[in-house]
Amino acid sequence: MDRIILHIDFDSFFASVEQQLNPKLRGKPIGVTAQNGRTCIIAASREAKKMGVKSVTRVWEAKEICPEIITIPAHFEKYWEITQKFLNICKDYSPYVELFSLDEVFMDITSTQSLFKNKYEIIKLIKQRINNEIGEYITVSVGVSHNKLLAKLASGMNKPNGLFEINPKNLGEVYEKTKLTDFCGIGERIALRLNKIGIYTPLKLKSAPLKLLIKEFKDVEGRFLKQIGLGQDSSGVIPYYMPEETKSVGRNYCLPQNEYDKRIVFQNIYELCEEIAIKLRRLKKSAKTAGIYLGGSKTIHARLTVSEYFDSGKDIFNVSMQILKKNNFILESNDYIRRISIGVSALEDSNNLSLSLFPKDIKKHKLLETIDKINDKFGDHTIRNGFLLYADKLKTVPNGYMADRYEKTKLRKEVPVTTHKQALLP
Ligand SMILES: [Mg+2]
Repeated sequence: MDRIILHIDFDSFFASVEQQLNPKLRGKPIGVTAQNGRTCIIAASREAKKMGVKSVTRVWEAKEICPEIITIPAHFEKYWEITQKFLNICKDYSPYVELFSLDEVFMDITSTQSLFKNKYEIIKLIKQRINNEIGEYITVSVGVSHNKLLAKLASGMNKPNGLFEINPKNLGEVYEKTKLTDFCGIGERIALRLNKIGIYTPLKLKSAPLKLLIKEFKDVEGRFLKQIGLGQDSSGVIPYYMPEETKSVGRNYCLPQNEYDKRIVFQNIYELCEEIAIKLRRLKKSAKTAGIYLGGSKTIHARLTVSEYFDSGKDIFNVSMQILKKNNFILESNDYIRRISIGVSALEDSNNLSLSLFPKDIKKHKLLETIDKINDKFGDHTIRNGFLLYADKLKTVPNGYMADRYEKTKLRKEVPVTTHKQALLP
């Protein structure tokens, strides 16, 4: 039997919430800006979008397009409250509700739809309840299909307050009128690489030989793209209250300018390593592989697996430095760095690893536990390594997407995370 998957996506979510809570803002072009950096709009209201303002844009650019735009700082706590109300509504129609981001869910209603007459009735009820229980200015667009890939594509086809269904009958027609980047999983960069091998449209992707895709993208990504081309996706809807197995933990950061000062570069690398380590320890995991990407006047992208598992920022930093050394990566005085990515993988449950009997290691673990407790209570990096004492606080800007991921983790783990620093606005 075919599955019935819904993708429900709030329309202009952050901006609509602001307009719902403050009626004076309704009907006006508004832009929600990141809290700690007023230079970026992370969400535009539908009025602003109509005038050509994109959802992620610089404030000055938005003002050029739409001089009367009103900017408002983001209030993630408020958005989060609404997401929780929304999840509580969805839960009444199926236990399979996956929180994909702060303003998007997938629902599998295959087994429950008949209890409510049919799928359209469920969609009608959810829309009605959002209107009654969350607010009349907040609307959602719903996509319906037999898998997540197509349901997500469908929700974007008739925005705002829309409903669109993709089934085997209209699939060809849909592929004719969509762009490659309309699909979840194909960003601008992948689209450009597809163009390079002669694939400009979803239909072309559908007919592209798998061999060609694997040649350009390697095995895993090549097959993934072929599946998109065929409109296939067998992944399940993972209920948001069930923790997902974490396979890797990573952090990215884009420095505010080309950074020639190596000390600042290394401080930032260290800070990212600390953030990863905190996340690892919250997950009760240890890693064996670390990878580093540095982008600037020189680029390196490499990883290394070591013999001992690690879960401290210092260890991740040390492995990262070993990678640079092994690859003879040397920064000269006229070199600069702009982007940094650090990640760890090959994770194992820390409880499964035999504890070291060296007193030094036991002491180190006790210290890390205490640091985590204090950081949990007062916010990450209340206690920082001495190396970072003189470092400027990272000037990171949370973007909608990463904030979502952060909230998602918070929901799943119910860990009281009080601050978060995420990076990489496009
Ligand atoms: Mg949305």
